[in-house]
Amino acid sequence: MRIDSRAVHAGRDLEAGDAQAPAISPTSTWIYDDLDEYERVASGVQSGHLYARESGENVAMLEAAVADLEGAEAAVATASGMAALLATLLALAPRPAPIAIDRHCYGVSLVLLRRDLEPLGYEVRVVEASDASALESALPGAAMLLVETIANPLCQVADIPGLARACERHHAHLVVDGTFATPYLNRPLEHGASVVLHSVTKYLGGHSDLIAGVVSGPRELMSEIRSRRSRLGSSLGPFEAWLALRGLRTLPVRMARHSQNALQLARALDGMRVVKRVYHPGLPSSPDHDLVRAMLPQGTGGMLALDLAGGRPALQAALRRFRMVRFAASLGGVETTISYPAITSHRALPEEERLLVGVSAETVRVSVGLEDASDLIADFQQAFEAS
Ligand code: PLP
Repeated sequence: MRIDSRAVHAGRDLEAGDAQAPAISPTSTWIYDDLDEYERVASGVQSGHLYARESGENVAMLEAAVADLEGAEAAVATASGMAALLATLLALAPRPAPIAIDRHCYGVSLVLLRRDLEPLGYEVRVVEASDASALESALPGAAMLLVETIANPLCQVADIPGLARACERHHAHLVVDGTFATPYLNRPLEHGASVVLHSVTKYLGGHSDLIAGVVSGPRELMSEIRSRRSRLGSSLGPFEAWLALRGLRTLPVRMARHSQNALQLARALDGMRVVKRVYHPGLPSSPDHDLVRAMLPQGTGGMLALDLAGGRPALQAALRRFRMVRFAASLGGVETTISYPAITSHRALPEEERLLVGVSAETVRVSVGLEDASDLIADFQQAFEAS
Protein backbone atom coordinates (compact mmCIF):
# COMPACT_ATOMS: atom_id res chain seq x y z
CA MET A 1 0.00 0.00 0.00
CA ARG A 2 1.06 3.55 -0.62
CA ILE A 3 1.96 5.87 2.24
CA ASP A 4 -1.38 7.76 2.08
CA SER A 5 -3.25 4.54 2.88
CA ARG A 6 -0.68 3.29 5.40
CA ALA A 7 -0.87 6.55 7.35
CA VAL A 8 -4.59 5.92 7.87
CA HIS A 9 -4.28 2.29 9.03
CA ALA A 10 -0.71 1.63 10.26
CA GLY A 11 -0.07 0.50 13.83
CA ARG A 12 -3.43 -1.23 14.35
CA ASP A 13 -4.82 -4.59 13.29
CA LEU A 14 -8.57 -4.35 13.79
CA GLU A 15 -10.97 -7.25 14.14
CA ALA A 16 -14.76 -7.22 13.98
CA GLY A 17 -16.17 -5.71 17.14
CA ASP A 18 -13.08 -3.60 17.91
CA ALA A 19 -13.55 0.09 18.57
CA GLN A 20 -12.73 2.12 15.45
CA ALA A 21 -10.76 4.64 17.52
CA PRO A 22 -8.18 3.30 19.96
CA ALA A 23 -8.82 3.60 23.69
CA ILE A 24 -6.41 5.59 25.84
CA SER A 25 -4.81 3.38 28.52
CA PRO A 26 -3.70 5.64 31.36
CA THR A 27 -2.11 2.97 33.52
CA SER A 28 1.34 2.87 35.08
CA THR A 29 1.45 -0.91 35.37
CA TRP A 30 -0.16 -4.18 34.21
CA ILE A 31 -1.19 -7.06 36.49
CA TYR A 32 -0.06 -10.71 36.28
CA ASP A 33 -1.02 -13.79 38.31
CA ASP A 34 1.64 -16.05 36.90
CA LEU A 35 5.32 -15.34 37.56
CA ASP A 36 6.42 -17.39 34.56
CA GLU A 37 4.15 -15.34 32.29
CA TYR A 38 5.54 -12.12 33.80
CA GLU A 39 9.06 -13.37 33.04
CA ARG A 40 8.10 -14.28 29.47
CA VAL A 41 6.82 -10.75 28.89
CA ALA A 42 9.84 -9.21 30.65
CA SER A 43 12.24 -11.15 28.44
CA GLY A 44 10.30 -10.35 25.26
CA VAL A 45 9.33 -13.97 24.49
CA GLN A 46 5.65 -13.08 24.93
CA SER A 47 4.12 -9.76 23.89
CA GLY A 48 2.58 -7.56 26.57
CA HIS A 49 3.34 -4.64 28.86
CA LEU A 50 4.58 -4.43 32.45
CA TYR A 51 5.39 -0.84 33.36
CA ALA A 52 4.56 2.30 31.38
CA ARG A 53 8.08 3.76 31.51
CA GLU A 54 9.12 0.77 29.38
CA SER A 55 6.13 0.28 27.08
CA GLY A 56 2.39 0.71 26.79
CA GLU A 57 -0.45 0.13 24.35
CA ASN A 58 -0.78 3.66 22.95
CA VAL A 59 2.96 4.16 22.66
CA ALA A 60 3.35 0.78 20.93
CA MET A 61 0.66 1.72 18.36
CA LEU A 62 2.38 5.00 17.59
CA GLU A 63 5.78 3.28 17.29
CA ALA A 64 4.40 0.63 14.92
CA ALA A 65 2.73 3.29 12.76
CA VAL A 66 5.86 5.46 12.50
CA ALA A 67 8.08 2.44 11.75
CA ASP A 68 5.66 1.51 8.95
CA LEU A 69 5.74 5.00 7.40
CA GLU A 70 9.54 5.20 7.63
CA GLY A 71 10.04 1.70 6.22
CA ALA A 72 11.92 0.83 9.44
CA GLU A 73 12.14 -2.43 11.38
CA ALA A 74 11.21 -0.64 14.60
CA ALA A 75 10.64 2.76 16.20
CA VAL A 76 10.91 4.18 19.72
CA ALA A 77 8.68 7.05 20.87
CA THR A 78 9.95 9.50 23.46
CA ALA A 79 8.76 12.39 25.62
CA SER A 80 10.16 14.97 23.15
CA GLY A 81 12.30 15.32 20.06
CA MET A 82 15.27 16.22 22.29
CA ALA A 83 14.72 13.01 24.29
CA ALA A 84 14.81 11.02 21.03
CA LEU A 85 18.08 12.70 20.11
CA LEU A 86 19.72 12.12 23.51
CA ALA A 87 18.71 8.43 23.66
CA THR A 88 20.04 8.00 20.10
CA LEU A 89 23.35 9.74 20.84
CA LEU A 90 23.93 7.63 23.96
CA ALA A 91 23.04 4.39 22.16
CA LEU A 92 25.34 5.11 19.20
CA ALA A 93 28.17 6.46 21.37
CA PRO A 94 27.91 4.81 24.81
CA ARG A 95 31.39 6.09 25.64
CA PRO A 96 32.83 9.57 24.94
CA ALA A 97 33.59 9.83 21.20
CA PRO A 98 33.78 12.49 18.50
CA ILE A 99 30.34 13.48 17.20
CA ALA A 100 30.00 15.48 13.98
CA ILE A 101 27.01 17.79 13.58
CA ASP A 102 25.98 19.85 10.58
CA ARG A 103 26.28 23.55 11.34
CA HIS A 104 22.68 24.03 10.16
CA CYS A 105 21.04 21.74 12.70
CA TYR A 106 18.46 23.01 15.21
CA GLY A 107 20.27 25.28 17.70
CA VAL A 108 19.28 23.26 20.78
CA SER A 109 20.68 20.03 19.24
CA LEU A 110 24.07 21.71 19.02
CA VAL A 111 23.72 23.14 22.52
CA LEU A 112 22.86 19.67 23.89
CA LEU A 113 26.14 18.36 22.48
CA ARG A 114 28.13 21.32 23.78
CA ARG A 115 26.66 21.79 27.24
CA ASP A 116 25.73 18.22 28.17
CA LEU A 117 27.97 15.82 26.25
CA GLU A 118 31.20 17.81 25.79
CA PRO A 119 31.72 18.10 29.59
CA LEU A 120 31.46 14.29 29.77
CA GLY A 121 34.35 13.91 27.32
CA TYR A 122 32.58 13.83 23.94
CA GLU A 123 34.23 15.85 21.18
CA VAL A 124 31.84 18.03 19.17
CA ARG A 125 32.82 18.65 15.55
CA VAL A 126 30.63 21.30 13.93
CA VAL A 127 30.86 20.92 10.17
CA GLU A 128 29.39 22.39 6.99
CA ALA A 129 28.08 18.98 5.89
CA SER A 130 27.41 20.09 2.30
CA ASP A 131 31.15 20.84 1.92
CA ALA A 132 32.71 17.50 0.90
CA SER A 133 36.25 18.38 1.97
CA ALA A 134 35.12 19.77 5.36
CA LEU A 135 33.17 16.56 5.87
CA GLU A 136 36.20 14.40 5.01
CA SER A 137 38.13 16.17 7.79
CA ALA A 138 35.29 15.91 10.33
CA LEU A 139 34.41 12.23 9.92
CA PRO A 140 37.59 10.27 10.72
CA GLY A 141 37.06 8.62 14.11
CA ALA A 142 33.57 10.13 14.53
CA ALA A 143 30.84 7.88 15.93
CA MET A 144 28.15 9.68 13.92
CA LEU A 145 27.12 12.64 11.84
CA LEU A 146 23.85 14.48 12.64
CA VAL A 147 22.08 16.35 9.83
CA GLU A 148 18.54 17.54 9.07
CA THR A 149 16.79 16.60 5.79
CA ILE A 150 15.52 20.18 5.50
CA ALA A 151 17.52 22.43 7.82
CA ASN A 152 16.05 24.79 10.42
CA PRO A 153 15.47 27.64 9.58
CA LEU A 154 16.92 28.29 6.09
CA CYS A 155 15.58 25.09 4.55
CA GLN A 156 18.79 23.78 2.92
CA VAL A 157 18.25 20.23 1.64
CA ALA A 158 20.72 17.49 2.64
CA ASP A 159 22.23 15.07 0.12
CA ILE A 160 21.41 12.04 2.27
CA PRO A 161 22.78 9.36 -0.14
CA GLY A 162 26.06 11.28 -0.47
CA LEU A 163 26.35 11.78 3.28
CA ALA A 164 25.54 8.09 3.87
CA ARG A 165 28.37 7.06 1.52
CA ALA A 166 30.82 9.37 3.29
CA CYS A 167 29.74 8.05 6.70
CA GLU A 168 30.07 4.45 5.53
CA ARG A 169 33.64 5.09 4.33
CA HIS A 170 34.49 6.34 7.83
CA HIS A 171 32.42 3.74 9.76
CA ALA A 172 30.27 6.51 11.23
CA HIS A 173 26.49 6.37 11.68
CA LEU A 174 24.35 8.85 9.78
CA VAL A 175 21.62 10.24 12.06
CA VAL A 176 18.99 12.23 10.18
CA ASP A 177 16.56 14.60 11.87
CA GLY A 178 13.59 14.48 9.50
CA THR A 179 11.37 16.89 11.47
CA PHE A 180 10.82 19.43 8.66
CA ALA A 181 10.43 16.80 5.92
CA THR A 182 8.42 13.98 7.62
CA PRO A 183 8.29 10.46 6.13
CA TYR A 184 5.70 11.72 3.63
CA LEU A 185 8.30 13.87 1.85
CA ASN A 186 11.48 11.87 2.54
CA ARG A 187 12.38 8.55 4.15
CA PRO A 188 16.09 8.79 5.04
CA LEU A 189 16.48 5.06 5.75
CA GLU A 190 15.77 4.40 2.04
CA HIS A 191 18.70 6.69 1.23
CA GLY A 192 21.22 4.98 3.52
CA ALA A 193 20.76 6.74 6.89
CA SER A 194 21.38 4.62 10.01
CA VAL A 195 18.45 6.12 11.93
CA VAL A 196 15.87 8.86 11.43
CA LEU A 197 14.38 10.88 14.25
CA HIS A 198 11.64 13.48 14.56
CA SER A 199 10.22 16.05 16.85
CA VAL A 200 6.69 14.59 16.74
CA THR A 201 5.67 17.89 18.34
CA LYS A 202 5.77 19.35 14.82
CA TYR A 203 4.27 17.81 11.66
CA LEU A 204 3.76 14.20 12.80
CA GLY A 205 1.45 15.38 15.60
CA GLY A 206 0.53 18.34 13.45
CA HIS A 207 -1.91 20.21 15.69
CA SER A 208 0.30 22.14 18.18
CA ASP A 209 -1.17 20.13 21.07
CA LEU A 210 1.61 17.80 22.27
CA ILE A 211 5.35 17.38 22.87
CA ALA A 212 6.82 14.08 21.67
CA GLY A 213 9.69 12.52 19.71
CA VAL A 214 10.39 9.33 17.82
CA VAL A 215 13.37 7.52 16.34
CA SER A 216 13.22 4.71 13.75
CA GLY A 217 15.75 2.24 12.36
CA PRO A 218 17.07 -1.34 12.60
CA ARG A 219 15.55 -3.52 15.35
CA GLU A 220 18.80 -4.12 17.27
CA LEU A 221 19.71 -0.46 17.44
CA MET A 222 16.15 0.48 18.41
CA SER A 223 16.35 -1.99 21.27
CA GLU A 224 19.47 -0.16 22.55
CA ILE A 225 17.68 3.18 22.19
CA ARG A 226 14.54 1.83 23.85
CA SER A 227 16.39 0.67 26.96
CA ARG A 228 18.17 4.03 27.22
CA ARG A 229 14.89 5.89 26.77
CA SER A 230 13.45 3.89 29.67
CA ARG A 231 16.46 4.35 31.96
CA LEU A 232 16.60 8.07 31.20
CA GLY A 233 12.91 8.24 32.08
CA SER A 234 12.08 10.08 28.87
CA SER A 235 9.11 7.89 27.97
CA LEU A 236 5.98 9.17 26.30
CA GLY A 237 2.62 9.25 28.08
CA PRO A 238 -0.42 7.43 26.63
CA PHE A 239 -2.47 10.57 25.94
CA GLU A 240 0.34 12.21 23.94
CA ALA A 241 0.86 8.94 22.04
CA TRP A 242 -2.88 8.80 21.27
CA LEU A 243 -2.89 12.42 20.06
CA ALA A 244 0.22 11.82 17.95
CA LEU A 245 -1.31 8.76 16.28
CA ARG A 246 -4.49 10.71 15.58
CA GLY A 247 -2.39 13.44 13.97
CA LEU A 248 -0.36 10.93 11.97
CA ARG A 249 -3.52 9.64 10.26
CA THR A 250 -3.77 12.87 8.23
CA LEU A 251 -0.03 13.44 7.68
CA PRO A 252 -0.09 12.89 3.89
CA VAL A 253 -3.00 15.27 3.21
CA ARG A 254 -1.57 17.86 5.56
CA MET A 255 1.92 17.70 4.08
CA ALA A 256 0.61 17.97 0.53
CA ARG A 257 -1.39 21.08 1.48
CA HIS A 258 1.44 22.55 3.63
CA SER A 259 3.74 22.14 0.61
CA GLN A 260 1.33 23.79 -1.85
CA ASN A 261 0.60 26.69 0.50
CA ALA A 262 4.26 27.29 1.35
CA LEU A 263 5.25 27.36 -2.30
CA GLN A 264 2.51 29.86 -3.16
CA LEU A 265 3.33 32.05 -0.19
CA ALA A 266 7.08 31.86 -0.95
CA ARG A 267 6.44 33.06 -4.52
CA ALA A 268 4.25 35.92 -3.31
CA LEU A 269 6.72 36.99 -0.59
CA ASP A 270 9.50 36.97 -3.19
CA GLY A 271 7.83 39.93 -4.88
CA MET A 272 7.18 42.02 -1.76
CA ARG A 273 9.10 45.28 -1.34
CA VAL A 274 10.26 44.68 2.26
CA VAL A 275 11.30 41.07 1.66
CA LYS A 276 14.98 41.01 0.68
CA ARG A 277 15.25 37.25 0.16
CA VAL A 278 13.07 34.15 0.50
CA TYR A 279 14.49 30.73 1.45
CA HIS A 280 12.35 27.81 0.33
CA PRO A 281 13.43 24.59 -1.44
CA GLY A 282 10.70 24.94 -4.09
CA LEU A 283 11.77 28.36 -5.39
CA PRO A 284 13.91 28.65 -8.56
CA SER A 285 16.37 30.68 -6.42
CA SER A 286 17.03 27.65 -4.17
CA PRO A 287 20.64 26.47 -4.59
CA ASP A 288 19.50 22.87 -3.99
CA HIS A 289 17.52 22.24 -7.19
CA ASP A 290 18.92 18.82 -8.14
CA LEU A 291 18.78 17.65 -4.54
CA VAL A 292 15.17 18.81 -4.23
CA ARG A 293 14.21 16.68 -7.22
CA ALA A 294 15.91 13.61 -5.75
CA MET A 295 15.09 14.10 -2.06
CA LEU A 296 11.67 15.79 -2.07
CA PRO A 297 9.71 14.47 -5.07
CA GLN A 298 6.34 14.74 -3.27
CA GLY A 299 6.64 18.40 -2.26
CA THR A 300 8.99 20.85 -0.60
CA GLY A 301 7.34 21.12 2.82
CA GLY A 302 5.63 23.84 4.80
CA MET A 303 8.61 25.83 6.05
CA LEU A 304 10.18 28.96 4.61
CA ALA A 305 12.40 31.76 5.85
CA LEU A 306 12.89 35.31 4.65
CA ASP A 307 15.10 38.32 5.23
CA LEU A 308 12.89 41.22 6.28
CA ALA A 309 14.18 44.74 5.60
CA GLY A 310 14.28 46.60 8.91
CA GLY A 311 14.75 43.39 10.96
CA ARG A 312 13.27 43.14 14.45
CA PRO A 313 11.46 46.53 14.64
CA ALA A 314 9.89 45.92 11.21
CA LEU A 315 8.76 42.43 12.30
CA GLN A 316 7.39 43.83 15.57
CA ALA A 317 5.36 46.43 13.64
CA ALA A 318 4.08 43.82 11.19
CA LEU A 319 3.04 41.51 14.05
CA ARG A 320 0.63 44.22 15.27
CA ARG A 321 -0.96 44.28 11.81
CA PHE A 322 -1.37 40.55 11.08
CA ARG A 323 -5.03 39.49 11.29
CA MET A 324 -4.64 35.71 11.11
CA VAL A 325 -0.94 34.85 11.36
CA ARG A 326 0.55 34.83 14.89
CA PHE A 327 4.03 34.67 16.42
CA ALA A 328 5.04 31.36 18.09
CA ALA A 329 8.23 29.42 18.78
CA SER A 330 7.11 26.07 17.38
CA LEU A 331 6.09 24.95 13.88
CA GLY A 332 4.25 22.28 11.93
CA GLY A 333 0.71 23.01 13.15
CA VAL A 334 -2.41 23.59 11.07
CA GLU A 335 -2.12 27.33 11.72
CA THR A 336 0.45 29.61 10.08
CA THR A 337 2.95 30.97 12.59
CA ILE A 338 5.97 33.22 12.39
CA SER A 339 9.10 32.96 14.49
CA TYR A 340 12.27 34.98 14.80
CA PRO A 341 15.14 32.44 15.08
CA ALA A 342 17.53 34.91 16.75
CA ILE A 343 15.33 34.81 19.88
CA THR A 344 13.65 31.40 19.40
CA SER A 345 15.29 28.28 17.85
CA HIS A 346 18.80 29.78 17.77
CA ARG A 347 18.76 32.00 20.86
CA ALA A 348 21.25 29.79 22.74
CA LEU A 349 23.93 30.24 20.04
CA PRO A 350 26.46 33.09 20.31
CA GLU A 351 25.78 35.84 17.74
CA GLU A 352 28.84 35.07 15.59
CA GLU A 353 27.75 31.42 15.29
CA ARG A 354 24.18 32.45 14.45
CA LEU A 355 25.52 34.64 11.64
CA LEU A 356 27.65 31.74 10.36
CA VAL A 357 24.52 29.61 9.91
CA GLY A 358 22.83 32.50 8.13
CA VAL A 359 20.50 33.56 10.97
CA SER A 360 20.75 37.35 11.06
CA ALA A 361 18.72 40.15 12.66
CA GLU A 362 16.59 40.10 9.47
CA THR A 363 15.82 36.35 9.43
CA VAL A 364 12.14 35.52 9.91
CA ARG A 365 10.87 31.92 9.81
CA VAL A 366 7.37 31.01 8.65
CA SER A 367 5.57 27.73 9.34
CA VAL A 368 2.90 27.77 6.66
CA GLY A 369 -0.37 26.25 7.83
CA LEU A 370 -3.46 24.89 6.12
CA GLU A 371 -5.42 28.12 5.64
CA ASP A 372 -6.47 29.26 2.17
CA ALA A 373 -3.31 30.38 0.36
CA SER A 374 -4.87 33.60 -0.97
CA ASP A 375 -6.00 34.58 2.57
CA LEU A 376 -2.45 33.98 3.78
CA ILE A 377 -0.88 36.00 0.99
CA ALA A 378 -3.33 38.84 1.65
CA ASP A 379 -2.48 38.82 5.37
CA PHE A 380 1.28 38.99 4.69
CA GLN A 381 0.72 41.67 2.07
CA GLN A 382 -1.25 43.98 4.36
CA ALA A 383 1.06 43.36 7.34
CA PHE A 384 4.35 43.77 5.44
CA GLU A 385 3.47 46.29 2.75
CA ALA A 386 2.18 48.88 5.23
CA SER A 387 5.63 49.11 6.81
N1 PLP B 1 14.67 18.91 15.73
C1 PLP B 1 14.18 19.99 15.11
C2 PLP B 1 14.52 20.21 13.67
C3 PLP B 1 13.39 20.92 15.80
O1 PLP B 1 12.94 22.00 15.16
C4 PLP B 1 13.11 20.68 17.18
C5 PLP B 1 12.30 21.63 17.96
O2 PLP B 1 12.01 22.72 17.53
C6 PLP B 1 13.63 19.55 17.79
C7 PLP B 1 14.39 18.67 17.03
C8 PLP B 1 13.37 19.26 19.24
O3 PLP B 1 12.10 18.73 19.40
P1 PLP B 1 11.22 18.89 20.73
O4 PLP B 1 10.95 20.34 20.91
O5 PLP B 1 10.01 18.05 20.45
O6 PLP B 1 12.04 18.34 21.85
